[in-house]
Amino acid sequence: MSGRLVVVGGDAAGMSAASQARRMDRDLEIVAFERSGYGSYSACGEPYYVAGIVDSIERLVARTPERFAHMGIDLRTRHEVEAIDLDRRLVRVADLEGGSRFEMPWDQLMVSTGAHPLRPASIAGIDLPGVLALRTLEDAVTLRAMTEHEAERVVVVGAGYIGLEMAEALAGRGAHVTIVTLGPHVLEKTLDPEMGRIVDDAVREAGVELLTDTTVDRIVGDVKATGVAAGDALVPADLVFLGLGTAPDVALAEAAGIPLGVTGAIAVDDRQRTRVEGVWSAGDCAETVHRVNGQAVNIHLGTIANKTGRIAGTNIGGGDARFPGVLGTAIVKVFDLEVACTGLNTAQSAASGFDPVVGIAKGRAGASYWPDAAGMVVSVIADRVTGRVLGGQVVGGEGTGKRIDALATAIWKEATLDDLAWADLAYAPPFTGVWDLINIASRNAADP
Ligand code: FAD
Repeated sequence: MSGRLVVVGGDAAGMSAASQARRMDRDLEIVAFERSGYGSYSACGEPYYVAGIVDSIERLVARTPERFAHMGIDLRTRHEVEAIDLDRRLVRVADLEGGSRFEMPWDQLMVSTGAHPLRPASIAGIDLPGVLALRTLEDAVTLRAMTEHEAERVVVVGAGYIGLEMAEALAGRGAHVTIVTLGPHVLEKTLDPEMGRIVDDAVREAGVELLTDTTVDRIVGDVKATGVAAGDALVPADLVFLGLGTAPDVALAEAAGIPLGVTGAIAVDDRQRTRVEGVWSAGDCAETVHRVNGQAVNIHLGTIANKTGRIAGTNIGGGDARFPGVLGTAIVKVFDLEVACTGLNTAQSAASGFDPVVGIAKGRAGASYWPDAAGMVVSVIADRVTGRVLGGQVVGGEGTGKRIDALATAIWKEATLDDLAWADLAYAPPFTGVWDLINIASRNAADP
């Protein structure tokens, strides 16, 4: 079809779409606008830059504007799209460095504006200086500079995976870290309580103070944050990090009249088409479908952003690709633990109308006689009636977490407990027992 594709938001989804559209259609003009100073960057690497494991911020840039230019893609950083005009089929753009404003017409539009960290106005003091969150590479640079000079005491509000990664990064930099979370355990939106409590113990053993079931009432301070009022405690802080989760960045799309779905993210079909002709969306700002319960979901993961972006790019470039949905498979390192999940947890399974049964297997990633084998726990969640596996979780030492991929693949193909109890999984003494914990957890779920 050719003409001009304009991309709003130049990171994972947007630049995957742009790159794939270029592969499909050599004649398409492609212009991408990115508000921050970097496009095509790894937000996932940001905590490790703050920790000092990644030495320079440039290493987190996958492709520079110059490399995109070689591909015939015009990526303009420090350019913010301020409005989308669907009637005139153009975007209004502010050049944040040059100071000019201009309009750019499009034949096809890709909305890939991502998700932003939650900053609830209901918490007094949340806008004080020293209350930071993490999204762009510039945020990571600011946070690292603070940890090098002025952040001896840090409060992390929220215990999702970004909060935990940052707690580890900041503790590693010598800060005294307190995590305050409303949940009964960390990672409460993804892990079942029994698995979450293992992670709680690891966090505390690493020297981080963890306050669960605790509400942050307000952030205190006059000219900058000096502490957090949480329950009965006033926890002092030089830096407050917000790890309260993320919300799809849909204000621009909504203002333009691009319809949202039930989750509040942009509604798309399996080709990543919005409900407006010629307008596409993918990544954190777009809905997708959960393969286990068939429901619309909006899960913010780089894996999903890259894949949905690529699907959009194929279709924009004249091909025909359909996105098959997600399981929400995720993995995170929390101090000495690897923590991974896929599919639905027990509460989500019940809420989706299943009758969940859980099998748990505790053991080691190695034969019983293998020295220093990492400990690990595997849980498998299934429907009691049909035996269909709905979800799984893995918590264990080094080298254990990617076992989640076997569970994810099984769930993807709608395996049952019987399939997994007898699955032919690899064995040698340094890695596992003859019965892998996935086999055993599945057997335990089948015969609770
Ligand atoms: P984004 O990456 O948010 O990109 C959207 C871009 O649009 C932004 O750069 C934004 O500046 C730009 N933008 C927004 N509005 C405008 C506008 N009006 N004009 C111009 N530009 C605009 N996922 C994993 O799978 N594994 C991980 O380990 C992992 N770790 C993470 C760690 C951190 C600290 C963070 C923040 C995220 C992590 N993620 C991880 C999530 C992953 O980074 C996101 O899912 C992914 O980046 C989403 O890509 P996206 O392109 O949809 O959105």
